[in-house]
Amino acid sequence: MKITQKIEFDEDVSSICESTAALTEGCRLPVRMHKTEDWPLAEVVSIKDHDGKRQFYVHYVDFNKRLDEWVTEEDVDTRKVQFPRRDGTQTGASTGVTTPKKHHSSVPGSVSRPTSPQPAVSNEMVNGNAVLAAALQKKINRKRKFNAVPAPPAVVVPETPPPVIVPAPVIPAVVVPTTPAPVTVVEEASQDGKTATPRQSGSMVIHQDDVVTRMKNVEMIELGKHRIKPWYFSPYPQELCQMPCIYICEFCLKYRKSRKCLERHLVKCNLRHPPGNEIYRKHTISFFEIDGRKNKVYAQNLCLLAKLFLDHKTLYYDTDPFLFYVMTEFDSRGFHIVGYFSKEKESTEDYNVACILTMPPYQRKGYGKLLIEFSYELSKFEGKTGSPEKPLSDLGLLSYRSYWAQTILEIFISQKPNSDGEKPTITINDICECTSIKKEDVISTLQNLNLINYYKGQYIVCISRDIIDQHKKAMDKRKIRIDSKCLHWTPKDWSKRSKW
Ligand SMILES: [Zn+2]
Repeated sequence: MKITQKIEFDEDVSSICESTAALTEGCRLPVRMHKTEDWPLAEVVSIKDHDGKRQFYVHYVDFNKRLDEWVTEEDVDTRKVQFPRRDGTQTGASTGVTTPKKHHSSVPGSVSRPTSPQPAVSNEMVNGNAVLAAALQKKINRKRKFNAVPAPPAVVVPETPPPVIVPAPVIPAVVVPTTPAPVTVVEEASQDGKTATPRQSGSMVIHQDDVVTRMKNVEMIELGKHRIKPWYFSPYPQELCQMPCIYICEFCLKYRKSRKCLERHLVKCNLRHPPGNEIYRKHTISFFEIDGRKNKVYAQNLCLLAKLFLDHKTLYYDTDPFLFYVMTEFDSRGFHIVGYFSKEKESTEDYNVACILTMPPYQRKGYGKLLIEFSYELSKFEGKTGSPEKPLSDLGLLSYRSYWAQTILEIFISQKPNSDGEKPTITINDICECTSIKKEDVISTLQNLNLINYYKGQYIVCISRDIIDQHKKAMDKRKIRIDSKCLHWTPKDWSKRSKW
């Protein structure tokens, strides 16, 4: 999608093409999406000739790149083509206005960031979300100014009225005292309205958006008993990418060009689990901690594999500053990789996850949330809060939002009423402390859930019966959970080591 920033399109240059011969890379036109009768706007990324016929590698403008594909001349609608403008002017450009109506909605949250605060608009608008947004912005500003200063004291109590618990009718209510004066905070926020940008230095590489890396280059992989169609580019060796399938040892993650070669490898390969230490085991689920310096080849191969399914960011070669936590499922043949996340040994930004991925055969089964839960369990052991590195993928963001919402709701709902039958006061910092979820993420979750109300000088959380019921249903589905008793791990202080 970055390409839209570089090339401008103009409705004026939209034209009818006599044939597909006029199409060039960068053109936009309606294209029939594979296995559908939808014709969303797509951009031609690359063109090739196949048996005298032209084929087009297209990216559907409003969709995730994993849907990019090769299409034939029959799949492109040349009646309305937008050519990229060549003069480079920025004025009057518009994109995709006249394209056919989209039939599916694009994946929610694919571009939004969870921590973008919206400064409150007016002094009148004293609602919970405005205050939360302001509090969040204040925290970000403060952090910028005093990066090394420890977090400010926990509770933010409104100045004028003493904190009283206000019972909301019918629904359980919890008072969340928060920053009292939205007006002041809003002023502060307006000084610097932008959110912190994600770190782009270090070994995490936001990959280049050139034609080669924009195109899927691996047809198929075989990993253990799974055959998986990749979603994105990954820099496997060229000669392997020309093969119909890359065969990957599911234990050491080395790759071979044929099944025969893999079989030869398996005779020699003694691994039946990832390298490193098994730091967690409950039932069939285990976690292995792998040091990116000590097990460099494995870590690099893991990154190569993960890149097939991660578009936003990845690291390939400099794995030294990272730890890798690989989740496996055990059976009689060994410990099979289900997913993983990487984590910087030292993060100045409190990131507790760099990249995170559930292997496609295991997706939509609750493993993603288990990985996230484990990452926060590590942060709890470290005694700090953490947050995933941004940007998150569309699927990653959905999983995180859901995890945060469930974890925070669980705290509210499980709170025992005091002797007056009312639920006690809880601060945002209390929530951070017992979940290890970073303050920004707690606040953005409360905003998204729209739980905060302002009532008689207090900020109260009102949770409807509906939300409670939905929450209980969702929690019933989370059958596998992390059991902290099964984690055998002591955090290391990497800053004290001169060399990793
Ligand atoms: Zn192997």
